[in-house]
Amino acid sequence: MFDTLSDRLSSVLQNLRGKGRLSDADIDTTAREIRIALLEADVALPVVRAFIAKVKERAKGAEVSAALNPAQQVVKIVNDELIAILGGETRRLNLAKTPPSVIMLAGLQGAGKTTLAGKLARWLKAQGHAPLLVACDLQRPNAVTQLQVVGERAGVTVFAPEPGNGVGDPVEVARRSIDEAKRSHYDVVVVDTAGRLGVDEEMMRQAADIRAATNPDEVLFVVDAMIGQDAVTTAEAFRDGVGFTGVVLTKLDGDARGGAALSVREVTGVPILFASNGEKLEDFDAFHPDRMASRILG
Ligand code: GDP
Repeated sequence: MFDTLSDRLSSVLQNLRGKGRLSDADIDTTAREIRIALLEADVALPVVRAFIAKVKERAKGAEVSAALNPAQQVVKIVNDELIAILGGETRRLNLAKTPPSVIMLAGLQGAGKTTLAGKLARWLKAQGHAPLLVACDLQRPNAVTQLQVVGERAGVTVFAPEPGNGVGDPVEVARRSIDEAKRSHYDVVVVDTAGRLGVDEEMMRQAADIRAATNPDEVLFVVDAMIGQDAVTTAEAFRDGVGFTGVVLTKLDGDARGGAALSVREVTGVPILFASNGEKLEDFDAFHPDRMASRILG
């Protein structure tokens, strides 16, 4: 992801090299080219507009710096503004002071929730936590089994609906999983929920009911970065229907244009907490805006 955008941005910025001083016209031309590069990468229009306005304003007002030549100054401004739209500071996962913490995953079917549940469980374990995975996706026939497979790979227990456990009722399964966590001393409960191929009211209601019943410390909206502009509309639908406290970008290893990844934070105002970049459980890490910006700028 971001290869084309990276190439475009570096060639735009390359054109400034060797210039002693940048005229307003130089800055306007550069800003126009950056704008095209971002739009071609599928970054949402309002995000592009705000980004370009910021870059122009700062580049035109830039002080002559002893340390940086004009080209380097523009690179620094673009880098800073990329970090800003990606969320600025790294936002850490919020856990409860009194365990168990509850982390709920929500998103469309195929976004990568179940895979993420395994990744997150493995990651939490590595940080010394005792996670419990909870199968509340009772819509997709294989979802419970898939979570069990993932749980086994991560070496983490899966709480699945069984007779007496709230079979058929995801809200009840979620509720009971918290009792089980308290009883058996799991300190983080990760709740996998059902998704549909498209946003639908019943799915939203179910997710909202699970949220209300479990009062999660984090609701993570899981979004496939490959779906382009749709990521933004889907995020808005989940924000309005369920609400979420963090975003997880998945499939960053794909070759899509990456605009979704660059837009979702700015459009929703919710920080990106994790990035997923492969099918294996270890292809996963906390999201760092500054590292992502460096990756984009090459
Ligand atoms: P869910 O329906 O939201 O639970 O999605 P799944 O976890 O079942 O994932 C859907 C598909 O995407 C599966 O084939 C996963 O292996 C794949 N997948 C999940 N995360 C990633 C990722 O970060 N990169 C790639 N390349 N594939 C992923």
